[in-house]
Amino acid sequence: MAGVSLRNVRKTYVGGFEAIKGIDFEVGDGQFCVLVGPSGCGKSTLLRMVAGLETITSGEIDIGGRIVNQIEPADRDIAMVFQNYALYPHMSVYNNMAYGLRNRGTPKPEIDTRVQEAARILELGAMLDRKPRQLSGGQRQRVAMGRAIVRQPKVFLFDEPLSNLDAKLRIAMRVEIRKLQRRLKTTSIYVTHDQLEAMTLADILVVMNGGQVEQIGNPLEIYQKPATTFVASFIGAPPMNLLPAGSDEIKTQFAGALGEAGILGIRPEDFAISSDPIADGIALDLTVEAIERVGAETFIYGTRQREAQGVAANPGELPPGEVIVRVPGAVAPAIGERIRAITPREKLHLFSADGRKRIE
Ligand code: ATP
Repeated sequence: MAGVSLRNVRKTYVGGFEAIKGIDFEVGDGQFCVLVGPSGCGKSTLLRMVAGLETITSGEIDIGGRIVNQIEPADRDIAMVFQNYALYPHMSVYNNMAYGLRNRGTPKPEIDTRVQEAARILELGAMLDRKPRQLSGGQRQRVAMGRAIVRQPKVFLFDEPLSNLDAKLRIAMRVEIRKLQRRLKTTSIYVTHDQLEAMTLADILVVMNGGQVEQIGNPLEIYQKPATTFVASFIGAPPMNLLPAGSDEIKTQFAGALGEAGILGIRPEDFAISSDPIADGIALDLTVEAIERVGAETFIYGTRQREAQGVAANPGELPPGEVIVRVPGAVAPAIGERIRAITPREKLHLFSADGRKRIE
C-alpha cells in the first residue's frame, strides 16, 4: 500500500515568503491526484516537497505509511517526470531509461527486462538506440515516462509533463498517461495549470489558490458544486458567469428568494435562448457582442442591458460584464441582436457576497 498523506504542510522560503499555508489531503493507494491552480499558487512547491527536492517547513508528509520529512529524495521510492523531460542528451533512449537502475546496482538482466517492458508499453521499441535529439517532443516525453516506469516506484510525481507539447499531442499523451496509470495502478500526483487536463486525469482534484486548498474532491463534483467563486471561475471553460445577486434585474425576478446570496453563478451551458417567459428561473436580456462558432457548439458573448443593471453598484458587486452563453452549433444569433437567455432555478449556484462560501 502506498498512499500519500499531507498533514498541515507549510513552506516558508528563505526570505520569509510563505508559499504553502497549511495543506492537508490524502491520496489513496493507486489513485491519481491532480493539483491544479493558477501560476504561483504553490503547486510545484508542494510536489517538490513530496519529492524531497524542497524542505518542509512544518507539517508531515507520509508516503506508504512512512513519514518522509527527513528522508532523501532517492530513498523516498518515488519517480518524477518533469516538464523539460530532463533526459541526458548524450545517452541513448535505452541508457536514459536504464541509468537510474544502474546507479542502484540493479542486476543487468533485470535492467534489460524492465527497459524492454517499458519500451513495449510506451511503443519505444524501435527507438532504443536513438539519442533524445533524434526524437519528437512526444517521444521524448514517453522516454521520460519510461524512465519513471522502470523504477517501479511507489508513487509517480508529474510536474506539468505535457506543457511543451502542441495541443493535439497533449490530448493524445493525456489519454496515454491515464491508461498507463490505470494499468500500473501506481499512486500518482500530477501538477498542471490546465483545468481540462486536471478534470480528465484526476480521481481526486485539489484546487489550489494562494498557497491554500480551495476545494478537494471528485472532478465532476467540483464542477457541479464549486465551493467558492474562485473554483467556479477556474474549473470550466468558458468559466461560470458570476452576477451580482443584488442588481435590480435579478432581485425583481426572485423577490427575496435568494436569501443571503450575494453572487449568482450560471454555467454557460445552463442557459437556453428563448423568448418564452420562465416561471421558476431567471431571464437575462442580452445584446450579442461577439460569437464564436467552434462547430458542435456556439459561444455567445452578450452584455446585459444597461437600464436593467440597477442604479448604484453594491459593495463587492462584480462589474457588470459579459455573460457567456453556450448553445448548440446550429444556433447563431447576429452581432447586435437582442436575445433572452433563460435558466431554471435549479441550475443556479448561489454564493456569499465575498465568494468564499457556497450557499446552494
Ligand atoms: P507555476 O504554475 O507558475 O509553475 P506554481 O503554482 O507551481 O506556479 P510555485 O512554483 O510552487 O508555483 O511557486 C509558489 C510561490 O512561491 C510563487 O509565488 C513563487 O514566486 C514562490 N517561490 C518559488 N520558489 C521560490 C524560492 N526558491 N524562493 C522564494 N520564493 C519562491
